Amino acid sequence: MSECKVPFTGKEKIRFNVPPCTGKEFEYMKQAVENQKICGDGEFTKKAHQWFEERTGTRKCLMTTSCTHALELSALLADIKPGDEVIMPSFTFVSTADAFVLRGAVPVFVDIRPDTMNIDETLIEAAITEKTKAIVPVHYAGVACEMDVIMDIAARHGLMVIEDAAQGVMAYYKGKMLGTIGDFGCYSFHETKNYSMGEGGALLIRDEKYIEKAEIYREKGTDRSKYFRGQVDKYRWQEFGSSYLPSELNVAYLYAQLEMADEINDCRLARWNQYYELLMPLKEAGKIELPTVPKECVHNAHMFYLKTADERERAALIDYLKACDILAVYHYVPLHSAPAGLKYGRFAGEDRYTTAESERLLRLPMYYGLTEEQTAFVAEKVKAFYGF
Ligand SMILES: *Cc1c(COP(=O)(O)O)cnc(C)c1O
Repeated sequence: MSECKVPFTGKEKIRFNVPPCTGKEFEYMKQAVENQKICGDGEFTKKAHQWFEERTGTRKCLMTTSCTHALELSALLADIKPGDEVIMPSFTFVSTADAFVLRGAVPVFVDIRPDTMNIDETLIEAAITEKTKAIVPVHYAGVACEMDVIMDIAARHGLMVIEDAAQGVMAYYKGKMLGTIGDFGCYSFHETKNYSMGEGGALLIRDEKYIEKAEIYREKGTDRSKYFRGQVDKYRWQEFGSSYLPSELNVAYLYAQLEMADEINDCRLARWNQYYELLMPLKEAGKIELPTVPKECVHNAHMFYLKTADERERAALIDYLKACDILAVYHYVPLHSAPAGLKYGRFAGEDRYTTAESERLLRLPMYYGLTEEQTAFVAEKVKAFYGF
């Protein structure tokens, strides 16, 4: 990959994210135009569906316009109704909650584990009430939640499991690909994710019985998907629905990266491992904390983060890196403390780690094409900040 070898002089700015582009995207988008099929569900979308079904082993993949929309489809398929409760972490992106709040549900936030920043599986059961309908684990940074425990709780309480695997494409838990373990899995192909189509996503469906409904909801409530397969001679309005299918142009852009998925993954992992090794002396000296990847998880280097002593030290480190032309960012403002979180949701139990840990977390530049020299430069500056 040529972009992995761009010489770095240490003078240009290091961006936090650069959207992935392998070079073949334009050829595929041109092909879509030449096929005279740029709306949804053309050849590239079919190929993408096949790619994900083969690669992940899930029963069915449906490309969507975003991960947010894949989550919305999941909420429809799970028949989430006003007043239902949905258990999720507060340390996540707004879409995790939005999709369920749109259906009138109450997000019930459970604290995270400080080691992985994922929902603490040992606290889920205490948050279950007779109104609970689903659990939404978020695989933060592409590191899996403790899915065996979560699936067992769900089975014992008759709950659905919807994986927010926006960050988890190509990552595994005990040999299973993230997004394939729960009833539904939701991927994101936003430009900040490992594989991108600008804006886009996918819904993975584990059980056959949800496929037909999902196709109908995704196609404005019609059985158009059946019509395209020649299973019915005209398509009709069957149910409520919306338009959740992406343009072929976007899927064509993504498909170029799917063909190189392993190479992209390897490039990212190489940079992640490099950061980890170079920053280890800081961890050993007790200056920072580094991410934990439990042994049953294979991650995808979606992000590299570290934790500073506190919020003030983080702000100082961001400023220091900025002065070195390095952009480092943080997230999330815990949902339960945000205006909509206060209005729509509630926190179950104690916020022991969610707020405190989110205030210490800092993400370093990480993208496909980030070079070895750039990574070394960033690590060197982080060390310099701590006097190493
Ligand atoms: C990016 C992200 C989303 C939203 O993805 P979109 O494709 O932008 O809708 C949802 N959840 C998590 C955890 C994310 O990181």
